[in-house]
Amino acid sequence: MTAFGIDLGTTQSCVAMIDEAGRPVIVKSAIGEDTTPSVVYFESPRNVVVGRAAKNSALLDPDLVAQLVKRDMGKDVVLSFHGQRHSPETVSALILRELTRAAREQTGQDVRDVVITVPAYFGVAEREATRRAGQIAELNVLDVVAEPVAAALSYQAVSGGGSVRHLLVYDLGGGTFDTTVIRLEGDDISVICTDGVHRLGGADWDQAIADYMLSQFMAQHPGLDPRGDAWFMQDLLISAEQLKKELSVTQARRHNLRFGGAVARIELDRARIEELTADLLEQTITVTQRAIATARRSGVAGFDDVLLVGGMTRMPAVARILKERLNLDARQHDPDLAVAKGAALFALMQTVRRPGGLSAAAAEDLAARTGMTVPEVETMAARRVTTVIPRAFGVKTIDGADPVALTDPVNARQLVVHLLQANTPLPADTGPYTFHTAIENQRMIGIEVWEQAGAVASESVEENRRVGEGRLRDLPPRLPARTPLEVTFFMSETGVLSVHAVEPRSGRDVRFDLQIGGLDQAGLEKARVSVARYDVSG
Ligand code: AMP
Repeated sequence: MTAFGIDLGTTQSCVAMIDEAGRPVIVKSAIGEDTTPSVVYFESPRNVVVGRAAKNSALLDPDLVAQLVKRDMGKDVVLSFHGQRHSPETVSALILRELTRAAREQTGQDVRDVVITVPAYFGVAEREATRRAGQIAELNVLDVVAEPVAAALSYQAVSGGGSVRHLLVYDLGGGTFDTTVIRLEGDDISVICTDGVHRLGGADWDQAIADYMLSQFMAQHPGLDPRGDAWFMQDLLISAEQLKKELSVTQARRHNLRFGGAVARIELDRARIEELTADLLEQTITVTQRAIATARRSGVAGFDDVLLVGGMTRMPAVARILKERLNLDARQHDPDLAVAKGAALFALMQTVRRPGGLSAAAAEDLAARTGMTVPEVETMAARRVTTVIPRAFGVKTIDGADPVALTDPVNARQLVVHLLQANTPLPADTGPYTFHTAIENQRMIGIEVWEQAGAVASESVEENRRVGEGRLRDLPPRLPARTPLEVTFFMSETGVLSVHAVEPRSGRDVRFDLQIGGLDQAGLEKARVSVARYDVSG
């Protein structure tokens, strides 16, 4: 069975597969486009429309439309349509259903085995939520892969292997931004470091432009305030996005805004848009500088190529500012499609890679089905992709430096001690680290795993996010306070965190794989059933 690569984007999604010649190709949407807007319109309690038509419906029925849900992936966000509860995962599952339905229609093949891409900066909870969205859509998610890794795979497919090269991937999409430094060596790809901003993307540019247009309207018609009109506001955002795209190719545009019988004529030019959004672009430079500094500490002195991916990099200001500020010569690499194509290549690699290695028969079978030669299949199976932990991980503990810790530990200041630092290559093993029980006679210890939430690692609890928990129970009686406890973290190649905690004197221990907050098996089944009930169309 063919495996498909899916770029599940904040604003646009895209599907790719490997053709008979062994090349990654885009599978078009139901209406023949390369990409599908990641927008869901809940037309009725049983029907949803996904894609271009849904985006257009956002105008008529803004309350029945879900968009930009990727920004809330892994968070406890509840959406409601026709009285039915939804989560970012179930909405994403509906998008996936439409993408795979259309792909099935276009290719005549069963679409079940998929690889889905995620921003490099996604932490474990968001990755897990993405995987779950695939499961809710009844897909077999072979793996999730970081978008810049996918982009690098597709770059490598066209530029060939060879000596050691370093790439900087600058990915500015509809909703997220990340910069990743990647090392290519022969057929292998390894991520050196990654950094990004969760909520920074085209949608913020659209908002800034829309705010400006609105202020112009209100300046021209001081008696009118269209802000309470959902239709007007939605139309304004759509126009802002359209103008933004047009001004990537032309210098100036005019637009008429109509409300309450009045018309305002808005003049926009490229320089004005750049001025309105300069702070947004500046944030990407700060992050890129930080990534370059981290890479430098790992011995990366320069870049052989700087790849621009994500639709927003079509804005001429992006390449210009990278040259002006960081002296980087950046070029676009298939900005809308590279990620999906790379995901298809990764999906093929996952199919080829079997536990225990590739048998001669399997290599021949795959070669026959993909049009590759047997040696090509073998090379593919031997390729290695090494990634890093995007953010630091640790456990929450009591701050021993707080004097209250001695007298009233329960109310002492708490902090997060990171056991694994950001940008550690995977698989990673760390510890044992010694922690202590807080109170006299403690029979149970909760081990809370926290992940760095801010841009840089901080021990402050507010700057971290709780991602899971395990319990060490049945400790022997009469343990004094401050009994040592040893904690070890192991993170697999695919980012699954296993925790081991032991009380050395009694040997009592607990091992757990991180249970991400959210759906358990029963919840997953329920979500599956509720998503399966919908008729989905494009
Ligand atoms: P992606 O998530 O990579 O599909 O990024 C889509 C984002 O790129 C959206 O915010 C689009 O508005 C934006 N975009 C697409 N084409 C252009 C363009 N020509 N100029 C500026 N932005 C664009």
